Amino acid sequence: MSLHAAVIGGGISGLAAAHRVAALGHQVTLFEGADVLGGLGSTFPYRDGHLERFYHCLLPNDDALIGFIRELGLETELLWRETRMGFLYQRRDYPLNTAADLLRFDPLSLHERLRLGLMAIWARYRGVSMDLDEITAADWLRRMAGERAFEILWKPLLAAKIGDRYSEIPALWLSSRLSREKNTKLERKGYLSGGYQSLIDAFAQLLQERGHTIHLNKPVRSIALDGAGMVLALDDVPDMHFDYVICTLPLTACQQLMADLPVDPRLRDLSLDYQGVVCGMFLLDKPLSPYYWMPFVDSGSTAQGVIEMSNLMPLERSQGLYVNYLVNYTHRDSELFTRGEEELLELYQRDLEALFPRSGAKVIDRFLFKAPFVEPIWTVGYQQRKPPYTVIPGRLYMATTAHLYPKVNSWNSCCEVVDEMISELTLQIAP
Ligand SMILES: Cc1cc2nc3c(=O)[nH]c(=O)nc-3n(C[C@H](O)[C@H](O)[C@H](O)COP(=O)(O)OP(=O)(O)OC[C@H]3O[C@@H](n4cnc5c(N)ncnc54)[C@H](O)[C@@H]3O)c2cc1C
Repeated sequence: MSLHAAVIGGGISGLAAAHRVAALGHQVTLFEGADVLGGLGSTFPYRDGHLERFYHCLLPNDDALIGFIRELGLETELLWRETRMGFLYQRRDYPLNTAADLLRFDPLSLHERLRLGLMAIWARYRGVSMDLDEITAADWLRRMAGERAFEILWKPLLAAKIGDRYSEIPALWLSSRLSREKNTKLERKGYLSGGYQSLIDAFAQLLQERGHTIHLNKPVRSIALDGAGMVLALDDVPDMHFDYVICTLPLTACQQLMADLPVDPRLRDLSLDYQGVVCGMFLLDKPLSPYYWMPFVDSGSTAQGVIEMSNLMPLERSQGLYVNYLVNYTHRDSELFTRGEEELLELYQRDLEALFPRSGAKVIDRFLFKAPFVEPIWTVGYQQRKPPYTVIPGRLYMATTAHLYPKVNSWNSCCEVVDEMISELTLQIAP
């Protein structure tokens, strides 16, 4: 008789894990707490289509994710476009894509620009080395680029991704990020012509066609031992029994579900906070800029930057409108995170009007999305504290964003983590 596995969480980690478990010939039941699949990559209905709540793109070297896209028969949906980055400093925009752009970046002295250029070359050739786990990115950058270049350029770039907790992040995370984004000659980004929803749907359809089960609106409340297997507690239904369980929720949620289990104290006591995100999505009748991403630095704005998604995503997906996300990475307890939807949208709209006065763009629609658990706030030495995939051999496994380090937080990295976890699982579980 085939083994029956439960997968907790229906984001990319849960969907990829369920797909791999099904391929092992085991029966899968996936539990998603929300009313839709996709987690942070989920979409919402817009007019007669759907749009991502949070901007998402692929990179050409996202091999693990592209592998899943191929397996699901969606390779022909992959679209690649050259994208550009801008940098809004004191309300003036600077392109920041090539060595020549860097040389023209006059908020820094020529000496500082040359030093930055040398640093970029050196960092790329040095690659990702584990000793960078022991120092913060801020110290590493200050030493290599100098104090002013750090304050004017690097600090805002770090803050645009990690918010006010940028000073804690290890250099290893940054160097991994630099190598992910700069491994190709051209700055190309990818997108699926049918949006991320087409990938989510393809995962779900394949699982269901093969007789596996997906439960929506079914948050798991706890995981317990049950003879030789595991049992899950859910609301309003009897406990459900499985041979083994894979949990893909953010670490803190996994720890809560496992609170009554005899798990290794290094996992039980591991402290990993998460940065949240606040995102104002604006659909405009005109474009703002030629850039995909533009951080706002020292420009008096609420948002840390804008992602002009329509510089990547085909306009048909947004009914001819230009999609822009104004974003703040901020903790769920911060004053900004707890502000109301209308107030935040007003602040972001004011940013658009103040920072892009010449665009003449009219807001057609606007939406606000928040997520409390997005970016793990890595701290120095995390590589040594990283939790194992196996919690209880043969019975309980994890593949979560807490396992990504030092990889960047992306759908591709989640797929890599799932594949690593599955390799470990298959050594311990008989087919
Ligand atoms: C603003 C923003 C921009 C991003 N940009 C990119 C990008 O350009 N490219 C890229 O690749 N990645 C991007 N990411 C990162 C990407 O979204 C994440 O790496 C990825 O979604 C994490 O997937 P996950 O499945 O591990 O977690 P999640 O997506 O968080 O999924 C976890 C799932 O578990 C469910 N859940 C929670 N509690 C329970 C419970 N008790 N029982 C059952 N289910 C539960 C949740 O509802 C959720 O669906 C971005 C993220 C954000 C927020």
